[in-house]
Amino acid sequence: MSNASSPQFFESLCLPQEIARQIAAQIDAYPEEEICGLLAGNANVVSRCFAVPNVATVKKVTFEMDNTALLRALKEIDKAGLTLLATYHSHPTGQLMLSRHDVMALGSQWPHIYHVVVNRKPDELMMKAWHFDKQDVVSVLIVIDDYGANPIRSQRLSNAQQVAIILAAVITIVVLVVLAVTLLPPPPDLTQQLR
Ligand SMILES: [Zn+2]
Repeated sequence: MSNASSPQFFESLCLPQEIARQIAAQIDAYPEEEICGLLAGNANVVSRCFAVPNVATVKKVTFEMDNTALLRALKEIDKAGLTLLATYHSHPTGQLMLSRHDVMALGSQWPHIYHVVVNRKPDELMMKAWHFDKQDVVSVLIVIDDYGANPIRSQRLSNAQQVAIILAAVITIVVLVVLAVTLLPPPPDLTQQLR
């Protein structure tokens, strides 16, 4: 099963808040089972989430994606011009590490993408992303992003920083104008000069 080119691995995977919410809702619908699906986007930014039914025999401790839904999702990813970035699945028992079964199954089927493991706590979604590097399994930071469209987030100023800079500039200009007006010499008395 090959889909598009294998993405290059980044140190972080950006996930829009909305997609985290979709995954959380999927877990809430099947809290006792492993839920699973695919994440697609560009570079290291996820922009779409495709829930795929788990058809494993023992769904509580393992997952197997429904083949028809999987193929449909892959087709849609291709059609949208996106890259398949990751699989995701939940561990209802809480561990965010890939299990030995995960490493074997995912490592042979999807060696070139990320694998996100999720777990739902009452008010938060715990997630960890992994990728394979030869024999190693490497963890990747997940950045939950409200915008979800910025692969180089750390190099950009946040909205608050931008507002602060604009505000500082405006205050400086106002102070300079006030100062200039205060320091101007009084206007010459034109009536006296005319005499
Ligand atoms: Zn697992």
